[in-house]
Amino acid sequence: MGNVVIVCEHKNGELVKQSLSAVKAGIDTARAVSGKAFMLLIGAGLDKAKGEASHYGADAVLAVDDPALAGYTAEAYSIAASEAIKANSASLVLATTTAFSKELLPRVAVKLKAGMVSDILTISTEGARVSGFSRAMWAGSMVSDVSVDGEIIVATVRGTAFEHAPKVDKTSEVRSISVTIDPQALKAKQIQVIEHKSARPQLADAGVIVSGGRGLKGADGFKVIEQLADLLGAAVGASRAAVDAGWVPNDLQVGQTGKIVAPGLYIAIGISGAIQHVAGMKDSKTIVAINKDPDAPIFQIADYGLVADFAKAVPELVEEIKKVK
Ligand SMILES: Cc1cc2nc3c(=O)[nH]c(=O)nc-3n(C[C@H](O)[C@H](O)[C@H](O)COP(=O)(O)OP(=O)(O)OC[C@H]3O[C@@H](n4cnc5c(N)ncnc54)[C@H](O)[C@@H]3O)c2cc1C
Repeated sequence: MGNVVIVCEHKNGELVKQSLSAVKAGIDTARAVSGKAFMLLIGAGLDKAKGEASHYGADAVLAVDDPALAGYTAEAYSIAASEAIKANSASLVLATTTAFSKELLPRVAVKLKAGMVSDILTISTEGARVSGFSRAMWAGSMVSDVSVDGEIIVATVRGTAFEHAPKVDKTSEVRSISVTIDPQALKAKQIQVIEHKSARPQLADAGVIVSGGRGLKGADGFKVIEQLADLLGAAVGASRAAVDAGWVPNDLQVGQTGKIVAPGLYIAIGISGAIQHVAGMKDSKTIVAINKDPDAPIFQIADYGLVADFAKAVPELVEEIKKVK
């Protein structure tokens, strides 16, 4: 078995916390197969992210830090990643499942001529080799066992299936990797980043999520549940129906084709509980549903259910929480 390279994401110079799920999976697997675990950072001006990454117990942090890589494009990053991976005798490449890795890792797999498996839940090892993975299928109604042939395997890791790597006392060595990127030869260039900014927590990191669906009837309905979210310090999520209707931005979508979340508390309001939505939140520790239809499927997975019109129940709940606070 060779080494495990974990492709890590950074934003505004900082390591993205979601990457720590892949870091944990990668370090544990490397230890099991007697290989080394390397965290890989790609970009320009990486000093802060490199320093942060060095505290999670990887055998080294590999950094491709090059002005030609300022402004992410899958084209340039996949060249950098594949060169760095080849130079470090990797037999397993991991990243946490995010929009970034969904775009980048298949391209890396093609460049490495590697097999790829996405959104894995577990990794199995046998002696010094990775023997297989499990992954959810059909919106989580089945779990399949997958094995991948070849010298290198590329995989994305479902964030909610692996804990975050903890910080350790030892600091990892940071190694600079140089790759040749010719900006003139690239066909894609980043022109502008349009970001949806919110003072609320990110869905992936939130301990509490208040999510709304078509039952909220419009963007004004979301203003009602936002009051509840802000009182609870929660992130706001949404069903695809609410996103498709244009009531909220699509980065709030929870589900099979949105974000997979597992907060301590998930409050689903005006959401029916379609299988594709449930696939993205069923691992939440406590699920609360507010829906005016007593037969809504969401009640089958809810720990607490309230059959009520949200327009009446949520403001009442807000007042009660204010009193307690
Ligand atoms: C390939 C594929 C991928 C998909 N991916 C996703 C995904 O990632 N995420 C996702 O969410 N969906 C996804 N969907 C869509 C999914 O199938 C459902 O259509 C969607 O989840 C329904 O959203 P909803 O629950 O908000 O709306 P609805 O199913 O219309 O439910 C609205 C609910 O609101 C309740 N309600 C109405 N009025 C009130 C009121 N005043 N107070 C309280 N409750 C009220 C109703 O009783 C109902 O239960 C996907 C579908 C496909 C085919």
